[in-house]
Amino acid sequence: CIANQQVHRGLNAFITPIPRAGQWLDRVKEADQRREQGNSKSPVDGRLIAIKDNICTRDLPTTCASGILDKFNSPFNATVVGQLEDAGAVVAGKTNLDEFGMGSNSIYSRFGPVKNVGRDGQEFSAGGSSGGSAVAVAAEQCYAALGTDTGGSVRLPAAYTGTVGFKPSYGLISRWGVVAYANSLDTVGIMGRTTSSVRDVLSILNRYDEHDPTSVSNSSRRRILSQITSRSISKPLRIGVPIEYNIAELSPLVRKAWLRSLADLQAQGHTIHPVSLPATKHALSAYYVLAPAEASSNLAKYDGVRYGTQSEDPTYSNTRGSGFGSEVQRRILLGTFSLSADAMDNYFIQAQRVRRLVQQDFNAVFNTTHPLAAINDRDAGHSKPGDVDVLVCPTVPSPPPLLSDLTSPSTGSSSSSLYAYVSDVFTVPASLAGLPAISVPVTLAESSPNSNNSDSDAGQVAGIQVIGQYGDDELVMQVGELLE
Ligand code: GLN
Repeated sequence: CIANQQVHRGLNAFITPIPRAGQWLDRVKEADQRREQGNSKSPVDGRLIAIKDNICTRDLPTTCASGILDKFNSPFNATVVGQLEDAGAVVAGKTNLDEFGMGSNSIYSRFGPVKNVGRDGQEFSAGGSSGGSAVAVAAEQCYAALGTDTGGSVRLPAAYTGTVGFKPSYGLISRWGVVAYANSLDTVGIMGRTTSSVRDVLSILNRYDEHDPTSVSNSSRRRILSQITSRSISKPLRIGVPIEYNIAELSPLVRKAWLRSLADLQAQGHTIHPVSLPATKHALSAYYVLAPAEASSNLAKYDGVRYGTQSEDPTYSNTRGSGFGSEVQRRILLGTFSLSADAMDNYFIQAQRVRRLVQQDFNAVFNTTHPLAAINDRDAGHSKPGDVDVLVCPTVPSPPPLLSDLTSPSTGSSSSSLYAYVSDVFTVPASLAGLPAISVPVTLAESSPNSNNSDSDAGQVAGIQVIGQYGDDELVMQVGELLE
């Protein structure tokens, strides 16, 4: 892995790679010995795990790919980093991202774009914002990686790089020490080349953390477990297909991969059922009101006095104007506007209502009730159980764009921003509802030599997403594994 980090410097997956030699090497050797003696500390003992650079590490800088955190070294580890190290894992460096997690292509980084190099050498978008983590995993520069997923930032890069990206139920994995983007949506996600490596990492991180006020308590974890123990892929599952995801803009490749996945599940004895999630079409707009609103308030603290690197002429506007990149500034403006007295009712409040509708849509199709739903909601009949176990749909409407198309001056930065927002259309609904979701790579079969249909998409990979009811993280992973 580490040799690959040295070789693949040009991919720009890492902002801070680990040094060629160092204490970490001894830790890997010790773990190897433990494995030989059959007493490994955990499934990730001695494994190299890359960490997105918006997750605090004591031994390496944390930049969030931003000028405003130019000289920031955290005095502590995020809980997730501590948990991994206690389990014997070794931090494999800090990965590149869209500044503060805002973006869908990992191009809004002070350290330059992440490169997702195709078989023919062409440079594609790595997806964002956890594009560095995705490329580090895909290029075997680490065993697995942590990212963050607020509106799709782990699932979208997974889809673009042919890796597995898992976003847990909101509150399952600690966010203490993770730099906040939009607190009501932020989750720590896991990326790996297979679902089983993702599961290895989840087994370490799936714990209550008293430092994180949104961490699900132990008693709620027990309640969730008791509700879901009866469900597994050993029984035929009812697979929901959300009809609103079948949009005209879906690329033929993605549509084929979706159909192929459904056919595979059917061949394994599961049944397919169309379902409707009517609020889906408003989810993207609601997300792009709510996330910037929370971001604008989170980023207010970076003023060069309380937090952040001061500019040479240290006024508030100079510090923020030079410290933040263009996309972050755009989000701050959007968020400040939608929270202003005149706009609040028409934007922020409406978006909160749409969020509630999106949550109710999901509750109406799953055959289990949301284990943490307020009792009032249940009484009001909003969470009347539907009849599907999981939903299967694409992760993103199209294959990755070429980097040159995103960064060329002719595209213009605001139109490329809009393009990026649209690519989140299938990932934000699960984020608004706090549900577990995984993106797995599905490869289209090579056409048989005897077939007359020459299929130009054969052998290509597209990301397919599995979404489950809150707390059904294990089931979501099991179904993902069936599709891999
Ligand atoms: N692309 C989305 C955004 O820019 C999602 C980002 C994320 O999940 N961190 O907000």
